[in-house]
Amino acid sequence: LKSPEPRHGILDIVAYVPGKEHAPGVAKVHKLSSNETPLGASPRAIEAFQKAAFSLERYPDGQASALREAIAAVHGLNPANIFCGNGSDELLGLLCHAYLGPGDEGIVTEHGFLVYKIQITAAGGRAVTVREKDERLDVDQILAAVTERTRIVLIANPANPTGTYIPVDEVRRLHAGLPAGVLLVLDAAYAEYVRRNDYEAGLELVSGNRNVVMTRTFSKIYGLAGLRIGWMYAPRAVVEALDRVRGPFNLNAPAIAAGAAAIRDRAFVAAAVEHNLAWLARVSEALTAIGLRVTPSVTNFVLIHFPDGDGKTAEHADAFLTERGFILRAVGAYGFPNALRMTVGAQEANEGVIAALTEYMGRK
Ligand code: PMP
Repeated sequence: LKSPEPRHGILDIVAYVPGKEHAPGVAKVHKLSSNETPLGASPRAIEAFQKAAFSLERYPDGQASALREAIAAVHGLNPANIFCGNGSDELLGLLCHAYLGPGDEGIVTEHGFLVYKIQITAAGGRAVTVREKDERLDVDQILAAVTERTRIVLIANPANPTGTYIPVDEVRRLHAGLPAGVLLVLDAAYAEYVRRNDYEAGLELVSGNRNVVMTRTFSKIYGLAGLRIGWMYAPRAVVEALDRVRGPFNLNAPAIAAGAAAIRDRAFVAAAVEHNLAWLARVSEALTAIGLRVTPSVTNFVLIHFPDGDGKTAEHADAFLTERGFILRAVGAYGFPNALRMTVGAQEANEGVIAALTEYMGRK
């Protein structure tokens, strides 16, 4: 008997696997596997969320106007150039579906965020993967991969899972080398954590061109991962294209309300940045001191490389940490079979991981 089959290419996709949540048999778990903030959400966001719960029978505003206006006000942008999605994951998917078709190519990098490849393939396109250099985006490699079939380039800056960053001059050079018909997607999920902040210049690159967009998220610094809110700054033509293909009410009402309140609470964001900066440095130094190589990060996570050859593998470390309630992220699927990614957490979690890894490395 014949049964329905997914379109060509769909069964080649490896479904996204989220970070582990549990450590079997351990009462107190510190989840450091999904780059979530240890500081929760702004109390103002929580209050707005609770208030929205009193009118759940109503459809949300399909334009998410309150949220787009709040984002625009804080960042000095025009709300007409802001498009919101159910997490930035949804934005990445919509961009691929609107700009790619069968036979088209999308460029991603070897350690790039897995959702890019998934969405390029789901849209019927072909993901072309290029090498990175020293765990950083390599503009020359990306440009060398462009063909007449290229429609989209998807990069994260800062990148996940490396936590590295290329300066805006390099991003400008990348853009300058791309044909006008190729859409450059700058995924800036971790923008708020970067101290050498040339994200304003990145936004200018969007303002001045028709083929650049920047995606951002409320999942990281704003602590609203559970509500699924992403936003994009984009030329009008891109916003209009995505308005045609998105779901009519792609953001829920509590998310719109909480997001608008969260982005206005700048003191909360500043405190989160401070916490992260201090602990990012301490964690990186402490792990380096016990002989682990840590990729220099500008984000809220670090990529920890384990030594080759003496049995102290990332896999064993993962098991060792999980038994003690510390859940990090295995990143084999990102091309790092012998590394773990650790989110910068609260003091207790950070100190716990440092102590556990010190014991693991045999240098108590
Ligand atoms: N881009 C990158 C680089 C990420 O690390 C993440 C979070 N895993 C996302 C996008 C998706 O974020 P969200 O859908 O929660 O906005």
